[in-house]
Amino acid sequence: MTTRSNDALAGQRIAIIGYGSQGRAHALNLRDSGFDVIVGQRAGKSRDQAIADGLPVMDPAEAAKAADLVALLTPDMAQPAVYAEAIAPNLKAGGALLFAHGFNVHFGQIAPRADLDVILVAPKGPGALVRREYEAGHGVPCLYAIQQDPTGQAKARAQAYAHGIGGARGGLIETSFAEETETDLFGEQAVLCGGVTELVVQGFETLIEAGYQPEVAYFECMHELKLIVDLLHEGGLSKMHRYISETAQYGDLTRGPRVIDASTRARMREVLAEIRSGQFAREWVAEYRAGNPRYQALKAADLAHPIERVGAELRSRMPWLDAGRPAQPAAPTERPEAA
Ligand code: NAD
Ligand code: MG
Repeated sequence: MTTRSNDALAGQRIAIIGYGSQGRAHALNLRDSGFDVIVGQRAGKSRDQAIADGLPVMDPAEAAKAADLVALLTPDMAQPAVYAEAIAPNLKAGGALLFAHGFNVHFGQIAPRADLDVILVAPKGPGALVRREYEAGHGVPCLYAIQQDPTGQAKARAQAYAHGIGGARGGLIETSFAEETETDLFGEQAVLCGGVTELVVQGFETLIEAGYQPEVAYFECMHELKLIVDLLHEGGLSKMHRYISETAQYGDLTRGPRVIDASTRARMREVLAEIRSGQFAREWVAEYRAGNPRYQALKAADLAHPIERVGAELRSRMPWLDAGRPAQPAAPTERPEAA
């Protein structure tokens, strides 16, 4: 794993600001790919982790001053202040500012200096996977996009960075800040996080209210989801159909479209429209500024659901389920975005 000499980032220093889920994975992968990496991280657990990982660590402002490219990998809601305080006054003219999600640029929360290349490299997976796949010689596929290119080097820099984190091994796809931001939010709201968890919980509650045992309902609606998701991930609908029974296939094909139907699609379109109009972004920024009262109340209620009690009890008999996955560096309350 060496840096190719024609890399647009050869001889340039990369500062990773925010050493959390994505930050740690990017920093370690780039370092192992031969890049010159420093970390800008305020005091706390994440900073201790970066030091333990053997990386040069400094305050965000110092790191921005010492870098050619700054990757801004704090939580999205914290980025505008970090940009204004640590990056804008310090990053050299002609430097590059990189994001892993387009939210703040697309929704106008950060208006980067005109002399900076503004680029996006968005891995389509959580940080722990970005690191694990890289170490295994694989890679989480990445989207990349260019918002500003005053140096003429923006695209080459984005591609070099994506290569460095292993994101090109699985295929690199060019997008725009708008497309990445809107599809990423839609995916996590309607399908990956919001959609799937509601489906699981509603299925669990339907079985409980009909008098079935919670343990049986848990295995059916939550535990077995992994088998199906793995099949879909590995080989799409075809692989899943090859592995499930004929009875399961017939039930899927005839009942699935009754559970998720045209009315669900209509609500998905509403959710997408709220994202595209900026309504979701305004709501989330206002919530964050108000100290997250609604977010915290909703999350507490979610985690107090009976499915969590049954699940914890059943999973405690299968400790291997939770082994081998590195702990997330940031505390859950520090991590507003899930995907
Ligand atoms: P995170 O919450 O895991 O880590 C954030 C880091 O920033 C932590 O080290 C924390 O100490 C630090 N931090 C928190 N608040 C701060 C503040 N106010 N000032 C300075 N530092 C602060 O973040 P993440 O989930 O890795 O997200 C980083 C970026 O990556 C976001 O733009 C996110 O949308 C994007 N992204 C995340 C994922 C994911 O799976 N987590 C996937 C793709 C893209
Ligand atoms: Mg995502």
